[in-house]
Amino acid sequence: MSLPYLINDAKGYVSASQRIPVIARPFVSERAKKTLDLVEKFVEEDCIPADTVFARQLNANGHDTKSRFSTHPTVLEDLKRKAKSLGLWNLFLPKAHFKEGAGFSNLEYGLMAELLGKSDIAPEACNCNAPDTGNMEVLAKYGTEAQKQKWLVPLLNGVIRSAFLMTEPQVASSDATNIKLAMRKEGNNYILNGQPDSRWSSGAGDENCKIYIVMGKSDPSNPDKYKQQSVILVPVDTPGVAVNRVLSVMGFDHAPHGHGHITFNNVRVPAENMILRPGGGFEVVQGRLGPGRIHHAMRSIGAAERALEYFLARLNDPAKKPFGQTLSSHGIQLERVARSRIEIDTARLSVLNAAITIDEMGAKAAMKEIAEVKVQIPSMMLEVLDRAMQAYGATGVCQDTPLAAMWANGRTMRIVDGPDEVHVLQLGKNENKRGNALRQRIDKQKARAKEMLASYGLNEVDFLSLDRACILPMSTTGLNDLLKSNVCGHIASFTYEITELLKTEILDFDCFRSNILTPDSHVDQAKDCIMRGMKKDEFHLYMAIYKTVHGICREQRSIVDEGADLILSSVFYALPLLHEVRLSFCEVLEDDGWLLAPDIVIKSPAHA
Ligand SMILES: Cc1cc2nc3c(=O)[nH]c(=O)nc-3n(C[C@H](O)[C@H](O)[C@H](O)COP(=O)(O)OP(=O)(O)OC[C@H]3O[C@@H](n4cnc5c(N)ncnc54)[C@H](O)[C@@H]3O)c2cc1C
Repeated sequence: MSLPYLINDAKGYVSASQRIPVIARPFVSERAKKTLDLVEKFVEEDCIPADTVFARQLNANGHDTKSRFSTHPTVLEDLKRKAKSLGLWNLFLPKAHFKEGAGFSNLEYGLMAELLGKSDIAPEACNCNAPDTGNMEVLAKYGTEAQKQKWLVPLLNGVIRSAFLMTEPQVASSDATNIKLAMRKEGNNYILNGQPDSRWSSGAGDENCKIYIVMGKSDPSNPDKYKQQSVILVPVDTPGVAVNRVLSVMGFDHAPHGHGHITFNNVRVPAENMILRPGGGFEVVQGRLGPGRIHHAMRSIGAAERALEYFLARLNDPAKKPFGQTLSSHGIQLERVARSRIEIDTARLSVLNAAITIDEMGAKAAMKEIAEVKVQIPSMMLEVLDRAMQAYGATGVCQDTPLAAMWANGRTMRIVDGPDEVHVLQLGKNENKRGNALRQRIDKQKARAKEMLASYGLNEVDFLSLDRACILPMSTTGLNDLLKSNVCGHIASFTYEITELLKTEILDFDCFRSNILTPDSHVDQAKDCIMRGMKKDEFHLYMAIYKTVHGICREQRSIVDEGADLILSSVFYALPLLHEVRLSFCEVLEDDGWLLAPDIVIKSPAHA
């Protein structure tokens, strides 16, 4: 029964535990491997097919917003029961810090989260859905015993859900110090006021959502702007709380979970609801976001993997043959497949590395790795989804595949938990801290290279030097003087002008030009010299000049010999009368390309 749903390879079924990247295997226990395979079976056999049932059941009581947000598809409760019975419950709480979870590391759960990310409802079916996971971590890490009993226990049992309220649409929430919700102490209570201001909150649409974890400003005059905020628990049925509407994500309402638009009007909560301590808001928020970002990232990798599966299925659909061939015969599509494979695999390694770093050294030590994947993964996922959608044509952007909904959801990942720019900026700033140290190191290495050259009796030579300041002494008696010049470089072309000879009364033009490009053999000759390590003084690049001139002469002599062109013949015999030589130089680049430089004009002193 299982196999047909699990086949994922030309050879049949390659299990999730067999697919663990080699680099991560030493960190994964046998128990985690077994659970991973169970998760895969559960997701592929139960959750993905149930996504369709879930979507249909949501509309059982009507298509309008109120109906969709008050309907609880029974299929989800069935899946929860099954997940519990299989031991696939609360997989996320890392064993190093919490006794309440299933006892896996961040890495082990990361591998499972990837599989959960392939289905809409699998994360919730295993009680591993955001924002509950982060909220449970907050309660487990910072909550008092009473707070844990009241809120953490039912959350861990999957009986209630929760929301996290921090950002506000009326301020730039990327910088959380901007948030305004007033949190004023009055006796043994805190009064929360956000009117007319409002807050974003995922999960607040769900009628099962019973508790909000709320960040507000409890000490706005504190000189340390990171100590002005506190985080407090607000039961959703507290008077003054209003969920005004839900916000769609590119037209998707994400019912019944939803993203609430909430206001607070004189909301009174007991001081004992404070989490950690007054002024400790930033600490709580930071503690919440680290592992949560790994969860998001791994689910996104699962989504990308599913997009690639859809992509491959479409490429091999025998019913769809543009221009007589399945899409898999069109090279451009295979290139996109290859790129997707590379990008998913490298992205996965980044996330697993971040998870291992958290496990080994703690979330604080893994801040760089976490920020990297926060930026890297959503863009990768969107790119892979985009390729898959493109392969499906119109079908790719409509409701007939999960791709469009996955793309819309995936797009939010570049914004939620702080937009890309904030993380990129921070990464850039931190990386740049090494700049001065590296500059000094490079200077030291250059100085050392100088010393080493001297110790080997070598000079510093730049073989690409053009010595533009050179003076070419030239007489009217011939070109042999060129050979004695100190011109250094390669000649790209050679132009000579004999204005005196070619007077208008003789010819109907007053200037004659000829260009000959430096032959490749000259370039090779120059390279050979460099390879042999010849010193500048011994370096006879003048040969290039000589050969160029010689080439002109040969060219023109053959014309003369054939007696074909009297004008050229006269030019040739008048070469000694040259009064201007125009030399075009070029640098020979590593790839044999030429970098053309402006001409040098050398005038004969006799004619100057
Ligand atoms: C689907 C969804 C669910 C959400 N769920 C929740 C939730 O449950 N709880 C919650 O508290 N919030 C939630 N949010 C809000 C989310 O966390 C914020 O939208 C996010 O933090 C960005 O804040 P902002 O929208 O105020 O954007 P702003 O801070 O106004 O930023 C707007 C844009 O400015 C640019 N920008 C910002 N900073 C910089 C910078 N330093 N350099 C260059 N450019 C910059 C970026 O392009 C950014 O996208 C959710 C949002 C969405 C879309």
